[in-house]
Order: sequence, then C-alpha cells, then structure tokens
Amino acid sequence: MSQLMEFRDKTTADKIIKKLASMDLNLTLMHVCGTHQDTIVKYGLDDLLKKHGVRIRQGPGCPVCVTTTSEIEMALELAKKGKTIVTFGDMLRVPGLKESLNDARSQGAKVRIVYSITDAVNLAKKTDDDIVFVAIGFETTAPSTAITLLKDPPKNFFVLSFHRYLPPALNALLGMGELKLQGIIEPGHVSTIIGMNAYEGVSSKYGIPQVIAGFEPLDVLMAVYMIAKQIHVSKSIVENEYKRVVKKEGNLKALKAISEVFEPKDAKWRGFPKIPLSKMAIKKEFESFDAEKQWADELKSIVNNEFTEPKGCECHRVLRGLVEPKECTLFGETCNPNHPIGPCMVSIEGSCNIEYRYRRIIR
Ligand code: SF4
Repeated sequence: MSQLMEFRDKTTADKIIKKLASMDLNLTLMHVCGTHQDTIVKYGLDDLLKKHGVRIRQGPGCPVCVTTTSEIEMALELAKKGKTIVTFGDMLRVPGLKESLNDARSQGAKVRIVYSITDAVNLAKKTDDDIVFVAIGFETTAPSTAITLLKDPPKNFFVLSFHRYLPPALNALLGMGELKLQGIIEPGHVSTIIGMNAYEGVSSKYGIPQVIAGFEPLDVLMAVYMIAKQIHVSKSIVENEYKRVVKKEGNLKALKAISEVFEPKDAKWRGFPKIPLSKMAIKKEFESFDAEKQWADELKSIVNNEFTEPKGCECHRVLRGLVEPKECTLFGETCNPNHPIGPCMVSIEGSCNIEYRYRRIIR
C-alpha cells in the first residue's frame, strides 16, 4: 500500500471512530487551515464526527480570507497610482470596498497573477515599472518573501506585506471566548516552520489541548482522538501527530530568515479586532522594498481604516468559528464562486468555497 493510501485506510479509520464512539464525547474543536477543511469536508469527516459528539469548526486559517478590506484597498490604491500589482490568483477576486483587483485590471490597471515571488522578481528585472508584490500567508509562505528580500532584489521590486503570525490569532480567539473550545488541531504546514514550541504558551495559558496534524483523513481523525485522550486524562499539552514532517523546533533556517526581515506589529484581521503582534511588518533595514513605507502618503487614509464588511456577508463570523457557511443567507445563491460576495467564497481555502465545491446548497 502506498504511504498516501495508508493514511486513507478505511479499516484504520473505523478503528479510530470506534474508539471515539466509546468515549461518550461532547466536544467542540477548531482547526485553522483551509487544507484541513478541504479534507474534512471532502471525506465527510465533520458529519461522521458529529455523530460521535465532536463538532469541528474552521477558524482564521485562510490567508486570503483574513486579509482585510483595508489591505485590499491599499493594493487597489497603488494600482490606481500606476504601480504594477502582482499577487496570487485568489487575491485578485477578493472584493474591496467597491471593486476587486480583477475589476481594476479590467479597467486598465496593471495587475498580474504570479505563481511565486520569484516570478514577481523576474518581472521586475524585465521592466522599469514599479512592481509591487502583495505578500499574503502565514509562517509557511513568509520565508520565501524573507529570503527574496535578503537576496537584494531589483530596486523597482516592492512588497506589500500582509503576512501574519498564526499563534497570536489563536491567543486572540481564545481570549475573546465567544466559542467554548475543547481543543485545537494545528496546521501541519505552518507547524513545519514554527515547530511545536510556538504553541506551548497557548496550551498553558488557556488549558487547551493542541495537536499538530497532517492533511490526510487519518491524520485528522487521529488528531481528534489524541485531543479526546488528553481531555480524558485532564491534560492540555501540545502533541504532534505529524511527526513524519514536523520537528519540535521547526525549521530554524526559515525562522531565522523571517526574524531577519520581519518584526511583529499589531494588526486587524478580517473578523477580529486588532491582534497584538500578529502582522509581519518589514524591518527598517529593508524599508526600501516596503511598499507601505515607500508610498506612505498615498496609503495614509487607508491604512487601518475601519471598512465595513460586504452587506449580508457572514465571513467575519465564519472566521471566528461562530457560524457555518450554510448559515449565511447569501450562501450558494447571491454568493457563489463565480460571484463571490466575501473572501471566504473566493479562496479555495475558504470555508464557503469548500462547502460550495463539495456540497453546494443543502439547507
Ligand atoms: S457565503 Fe458568501 S456572503 Fe456568505 S459568509 Fe460566505 S463569503 Fe460571505
């Protein structure tokens, strides 16, 4: 059996489910990862687990979704000023206040899709235009941005950093206390970079079990079982189900690159008030590449502005795990992947998009 199929083995899944069924559970868990949500919905794990007293909600783990309207407006403003905006495909379709980057492009703004930051740097090498790379994502994608800036890219290459640190969001979510959670499944890819240690403060402060998990169905089921076992013996520690990839200390080289280039800054996330020290701001040494600093005057009126969410969109509550996509009255009707109202329907990592792709409208 291939390693992949091993992690989809039905007999093993049945054994884990049987164990969970014998534990008489009544748990609400959260995960913070679009790839986990994809696995959970694709394989029907949420419905299966619900039958055994385990509810799983997706939290603020989709980079496109947590990017704020104000940040989209910053990219739009620079596009209007004639800069070439380059970013990943999903970002183009996120609605700003009145339009998306895609709309701006159709009206003549220079907006380009790239598949990596290297593509963006190569574009800068071929032109005299100012190239602004809109950098999103957590600790998983931030190292490639950091390494690019450490390699001294062309002078006409800039970064609009919307990178974020994940652990401060976990602290904020638990601190808000809106949803009583009994455990968190942590994302394998972010954990590959930050390791296990980064989560320890959260478990000790909030007395909550956390398990780092891979992305196959058995990874998720095993993580749920490990959390249930911790609760059974009144433990609240960080465990690693994804030992085949994640090391306790993380990836020290990637962490070093992040800390050389970025420093933590307070920032709003969609659906959240300002989260202390949660944004990766570009350090002063690299400010010649920092689009936010270079065009500070142009962006002054937009930065941290309180823009309202699209009318009727529940994305902000979906991101806090308070509602499921189908509870939004716009889901699947007014809002669908061809006509997204909020970012949770735009991104393939967003709860609404995932729900729509696998289950469409089931009210
Ligand atoms: S279905 Fe659309 S409008 Fe509703 S929460 Fe999701 S993204 Fe927002």
